[in-house]
Amino acid sequence: MLSQAVSKAPSPNCDDRPGEEISLLVVHNISLPPGQFGGPGIRQLFTNCLDPDEHPFYREIHELRVSAHLLIDREGQVIQFVPFEKRAWHAGVSQFEGRERCNDFSIGIELEGADDIPYTDIQYQVLADVTRELMALYPEITPDRIVGHCDIAPGRKTDPGPAFDWERYRNLIIG
Ligand SMILES: [Zn+2]
Repeated sequence: MLSQAVSKAPSPNCDDRPGEEISLLVVHNISLPPGQFGGPGIRQLFTNCLDPDEHPFYREIHELRVSAHLLIDREGQVIQFVPFEKRAWHAGVSQFEGRERCNDFSIGIELEGADDIPYTDIQYQVLADVTRELMALYPEITPDRIVGHCDIAPGRKTDPGPAFDWERYRNLIIG
């Protein structure tokens, strides 16, 4: 589907979309344990394999049933957990332009990162490349329909956080 090299880690945390067009892209961040990069925690969380004894934080979250369509790690590697035509469980309680349940009509991309730690150059590049391809595949995803998790769940979510340079990202999409 995408021209990038994508490794697959199928997540059971998805289901059918309720027939709606894909018309929104949501950018997130995640790191497990929080603030640490490079480990298997994210993949384990999204495939329901997180070991609660591995880290105190894992005890709180290991029963969550969550996923995203894609993860872009610090080295720019892309992992796909959910096919785009399926509904991934990334947004939670959310609203965009008056429509609730953004999972129904969005694609969720996780950047391995944290709100206050700069993202890597290759993450911006790969995110922009993937975004352009998704905009071609799903023309209803227009630049004004690319948002952060913080924008659709304000007060509840802060990602991708102040470290994410939206202007840089948007310039790369156009360029
Ligand atoms: Zn998020």
